[in-house]
Amino acid sequence: MRSVPGRRPDPAVGSLPAPEPVAECLLIQVAAKEPFEVLRLADRPGSGVVFTGAGAIEAIQATRRHGWKRPLLADRRRYTGPARVRGTVGFAPSWLAGQRDAGVSPVLTDSGYVADGDVTALRAILGQAAEAGPDVTAVLPLHERWLHEGRATLIAEVIAHDVPVALVLERADDPLATAQAMAGLTDLLRSASSVALLGAGIGGLAALAFGAQWAAVGVRASLRSYRPADCEPGSPRRRRRWRPAPQEIVAAPVLSFSPIDAVVSACAASGANVGWACRCSSCQGRTPEWLASAAALDADAHTVDVLLRHAERVRRHTPGPAREQAWRRQCRQALGRHDELGLAALGWQPSGVLMACAAFSSGHAPKAEDQIRARGRRRVPA
Ligand SMILES: [Zn+2]
Repeated sequence: MRSVPGRRPDPAVGSLPAPEPVAECLLIQVAAKEPFEVLRLADRPGSGVVFTGAGAIEAIQATRRHGWKRPLLADRRRYTGPARVRGTVGFAPSWLAGQRDAGVSPVLTDSGYVADGDVTALRAILGQAAEAGPDVTAVLPLHERWLHEGRATLIAEVIAHDVPVALVLERADDPLATAQAMAGLTDLLRSASSVALLGAGIGGLAALAFGAQWAAVGVRASLRSYRPADCEPGSPRRRRRWRPAPQEIVAAPVLSFSPIDAVVSACAASGANVGWACRCSSCQGRTPEWLASAAALDADAHTVDVLLRHAERVRRHTPGPAREQAWRRQCRQALGRHDELGLAALGWQPSGVLMACAAFSSGHAPKAEDQIRARGRRRVPA
């Protein structure tokens, strides 16, 4: 949301009715500087917006002044980039107070990064969040091993501090594309009182299905992935090769993100197979060729509508085994369409997170199934 720099608490905003509750919502995560029109993507029950970056609170104030009632959250994202801060850094009091002044609930911490084995940083974030008040959710930007070898420590610390947490999962590709990672996430979801997921892709749907308090899916590829510092654009390793990422959409039949051109080409290669027809409110039964020349916001509207329809299907079921089984059926259907549409012959790999979810067995420790993760995926993390 474009706004004047500098935090200016607006007393009028604090007196507005509180936004709708965030529980069970699939939010969209956008940059604070996104044009105002992006709000229409998430303006429906069960959704809302996470604004990202230093201007997020001003974006929320501007949005609330326009009468928007859906949930609004603010992710400072100090944990990313080559110059990311460590999790031991103190929260900025103005960041927490600014969210409270803007009527935001829950208040998200402006946490730094928790590297592999950095228990000191983990405890620093959780301890500060516990002291900051019951309306605060601790943002936990975690190295991927925290869901694997570090799982027991992570769960013990979250339970000991008894604060809601919102995970951000670091990995060069999809962080939930292994059964081991899914097991780590579901163990935490079943052990802790309130767990959410920020900056997700298709894994946001999986988190909701397995009991997350809420989840946020990035509209841009950069906001649905959390790459290690040496993989970030602008890092010495990446500086020479960096190019702006092409716009991606959800390939609706197979429920995975892919560049628009790749989706259109795959559809054309399969003879515009009726299996590509999308029933979202933007496509209205059309196959995806029209998206190649559509405005970026219309392409995003397709993606968000497809995701929110899946979230609605997930929420139709009671939380617990019934919901998990329903989600796994959705995953198997999408994986089946990958075969039906002949995408393997076009070089597409099936979605790793869908494979991990479809194979995941509720209530049982999963086997070491990392080998099921699709290798050589050409798409960015789902
Ligand atoms: Zn569509």
